[in-house]
Formats: sequence, C-alpha cells, structure tokens
Amino acid sequence: MSSIAHLHTSSFSIQDLELKLKQVRLAHPEQSLPSPAYSDSGSSSPKECQPEESYFLRSLKECLAIYEEPSRPRGESLLLLSDEEVIMLANNGNIATYALEKLFGMDQLERAVRIRRAIISRASSTGRLESSSIPFENYDYSRVLGACCENVVGYIPIPLGVAGPLTVDGKQYPIPMATAEGTLVASTSRGCKALNAGGGVTTVLVGDGMTRGPAIDFPSAIRAGKAKAWIDSDDGHKILREAFESTSRFAKLKSLKTAIAGRTLYVRFATTTGDAMGMNMISKGTEKALEAMQKRFPEMVVLALSGNYCTDKKPAAINWIEGRGKSVVAEAVIPGHVVKTVLKTTVKDLCNLNVKKNLMGSAMAGSIGGFNAHAANILTAIFLATGQDPAQNVESSMCMTLMEPSGPDGEDLLVSVTMPCIEVGTVGGGTVLAPQQGVLDMLGVRGAHPKQPGQNAQTLARIIASAVLAGELSLLSALAAGHLIKAHMAHNRSQANTPAASVPATPGAGLASRV
Ligand code: ADP
Repeated sequence: MSSIAHLHTSSFSIQDLELKLKQVRLAHPEQSLPSPAYSDSGSSSPKECQPEESYFLRSLKECLAIYEEPSRPRGESLLLLSDEEVIMLANNGNIATYALEKLFGMDQLERAVRIRRAIISRASSTGRLESSSIPFENYDYSRVLGACCENVVGYIPIPLGVAGPLTVDGKQYPIPMATAEGTLVASTSRGCKALNAGGGVTTVLVGDGMTRGPAIDFPSAIRAGKAKAWIDSDDGHKILREAFESTSRFAKLKSLKTAIAGRTLYVRFATTTGDAMGMNMISKGTEKALEAMQKRFPEMVVLALSGNYCTDKKPAAINWIEGRGKSVVAEAVIPGHVVKTVLKTTVKDLCNLNVKKNLMGSAMAGSIGGFNAHAANILTAIFLATGQDPAQNVESSMCMTLMEPSGPDGEDLLVSVTMPCIEVGTVGGGTVLAPQQGVLDMLGVRGAHPKQPGQNAQTLARIIASAVLAGELSLLSALAAGHLIKAHMAHNRSQANTPAASVPATPGAGLASRV
C-alpha cells in the first residue's frame, strides 16, 4: 500500500492531513495522487483504481483556503496540495497554468511540468498527452525556465549520431549530428574519410558580425534623408557607436548600412558578439543607439527594432551578399585515387555535375545562396546537436560549393564551400542546456572562450563549414556514381513501417543522403 493510501483510512484533522500530505509530497515528489474521476466507484475509466488507492480530495473551498493562506508562501502551500487539487485550482482559474514553475519554485519544476501535462491533456480533444510517450522526467528544467521555452510539457529527443572524425585546420573533431534522416550521418562520414585522406580541411574566417536592421519612420523622405546622411557621417557614426558599445563588452560595432524606402529609414547594425550568437546582445545595443539618435531626430518613430533589414530567419539577398554571423570558406584537396576508391567516381564527373547542378541548376531556379546540394542537411543536424537556433538555418545554410581539377595533370579535386552566414554561439540560447553543452564540450568549444572571446563560436562555425564540405562531397559523389536511390533503399526506408510486399530487394549499400 502506498504512503498516500494511508491517508484514506486514518481519522484526521485538516492540520493532520496537511502535515501528512506534506510528508508524502516531500518523500515522493514524483508521486501523483489518483484522479478523483478514476477513484470514484463505478467509474469506467481505463485506469480504474483499487479502492485502497483512492483518497480524500478536498473541496475547492478547502483547497483555496490552503493555497491562499496568507501566513505561508504560495510555494509552500502548494506542497500541501495534491496534484489533483492543484489541477482543480488551475481549472477553476485560481492558478495560471503558464505560471506553475514560478509558483512551485525551483525544487518542484518537474511537478509543475507533470501537472501542466495533465491540465492540457484533459482539456484536449484526444486526452492523450498525459499518458503519451513524450518524455518529461529527469530533465533539468531549471535551465529552461525563463530562458529556452514556456508552457513546458516535456522534451523531444532526437537521435544523435557522430560522423567523422574530420580533420579541420589540423585538429580532429567528431561531427555531432542530431537527425532522423537515415543515411545523413553515414554519408557525411564518407565525405570526412575522403577529406582526411587528402590531409583534411583548411578554413578561413572572412567575416564575423551579427546584424539587426530597425525600421524608422520620419515625417517625410527629406527628413529620412537627413537622418541617413547623419548616420553615414563620421559624427553620426561615432555617436551611434559609443551608445551601442556601452551595452556590452563583447559588442563592437563593425558597420552601419543605411537604406531608404519613401520616408522609412533602415539601418543595418553589424557587430561582433563574442561567443554569443548575439541576437539579444545586438538588440540591446541597437536600442541604445536609437535612443541616442532620437535626441538628434525627435520626430523619428522606431517602428520595429527588427525591420527585416537584418535579415533574421528569412531568405534575403542582403545576407548572401554582406554576410551575417560567421562568414567561412572551407577548402580541401582530394587526391585523384581517393576520389576513385572512397567516393567511387571521377574528378571530371564530379566537376561537371557540380557546375550543372549546384551552379547552373540553382541559377535556373533563381536561387539566392542555394548553390549547393544539401548544406542545410548537415548544418541543421549540427545546429540541433549543439543548441543553436534551428530557425536560423534559413540563412546559415546559404552556401556555394565549388569544385575544380587540381594538381599538375588535373587528377586531384579542389573543393570548397563558401558560407557567408553561419549564425552560431557557444553561450546563451539553447547552448545552456546540459545535453547540448555535452556536445559542445566534446568539440572543445563549450561556453565562453577563456582567453579570446569569440573564438569558441568561430571554431564551431569552421567545424560546421567543414562538415558541410564533407556532406557536399559525399552526396555529389553518390549522385555522380548513381548511388543515391540504392543508398536510400538500404539505409533510410523504414522497413518496419513499410508493408513487406512493397519493400524491394536492395542491392549494395551506397551512401548518400536525400537532396
Ligand atoms: P544572444 O545574444 O546570443 O541571444 P545571450 O544574450 O543569451 O545570447 O548570451 C550572451 C550573454 O553571455 C551576455 O550577457 C554576455 O555578457 C555573456 N557572455 C559571457 N561570456 C561571453 C562571451 N565570451 N561572448 C559573448 N557573450 C558572453
């Protein structure tokens, strides 16, 4: 019999009950008291409770009296209420479901999540969340609270694979990839093998600057033009820079790009952000700079701190042309014999396919920054594994893949990827979560760089570009060798969910990913 069940049989005063419930809650914080709907006799619930497991559910009035007792903090009062009683109060509008964590306090976070699941589940048409396979236990919600997610009901695990290792600038890195796409890790691994055989990847960081582009209205185009001229002047630039840089020791204003449409002025602030991806940091700096500008132009109206001239999480030519975040080129030479033995194709075929597909094909499609085979595949998998903002894969995946014959007789392959917008950080955002920190640790880039702020985030961007190079090489090779379909049949098709009669016999295991 559970300790909760004892409460049922004993005679007690309210004080006794409060005390006992508190003891139970403290001893078994994970234990949820059974729902009254299930404990009522005659219930046809699938979770029919044994009579001895039922317990006394106090009235709403009693629960409210306990909850609102002025001599105790709310968090302590909640310890005296069962889960079902808290749910009753929430359903009655006495407790806001979104504020459960705040009310329960730091040592009751999992209970807050469990109760929210029950409330949402029972209010939904399916009623399935509460008993669903969505995990919620044994997670460090303290890192989530106020930082990563609201209205939390659990977490979504994604398989984590490792490709490589890959030699990047002389160091070997395992490539962490969180993905549910079969063949992706295997394919990237094959690319790593070919790159390593040629001595590895070398990278060059050609830019580092996060951007924010507010939209500012003026009464007329003339006034907007005056403001533009002021920002472009040394004087205006200096005033804005000083205000901007006063907000963080990591924020160093690199450039201000202005543009006008009618009477609306757009200013693209670009700044270094240390090891942070930097959107919060740059927003603070931009706000401060605009306050300084407002003193000079009192008639200006800041419509939005982000006027889409940034451009964040949307396709935009300005990012492709100017860069955003880390701008990286990763390059390697693959010996001709490795192209043959590992990649099972030829330099000539690869170069031809790269031109016809990645350059001409994308040009025919009117692409902006999509001159690659599947940069987004590798980048997004690493983003998910390392706690980056996955929505920034829009611009971060922009990539031009180039291939040309190399060596005295053109027998080797010179291959590169140019990625102007890799937006990554190793502090802040999802990088504060323990599993993601574990992955960053594995790469030796967790948190703030101890000596040179920004170097951890830059190294991560170099690793990502290099892994993209591996992915490009492998997929292009598979396409050139006609392996793609075979590989997918062997590695990616879910045999378990596919009726046997429709599963074709699959020869050899080529390694390629979906494009
Ligand atoms: P973001 O700007 O990417 O949204 P956050 O604002 O969440 O990131 O995190 C950046 C915070 O981390 C800032 O408060 C900053 O002062 C702090 N910080 C500590 N060390 C560093 C570092 N090396 N680089 C950047 N920020 C750092």
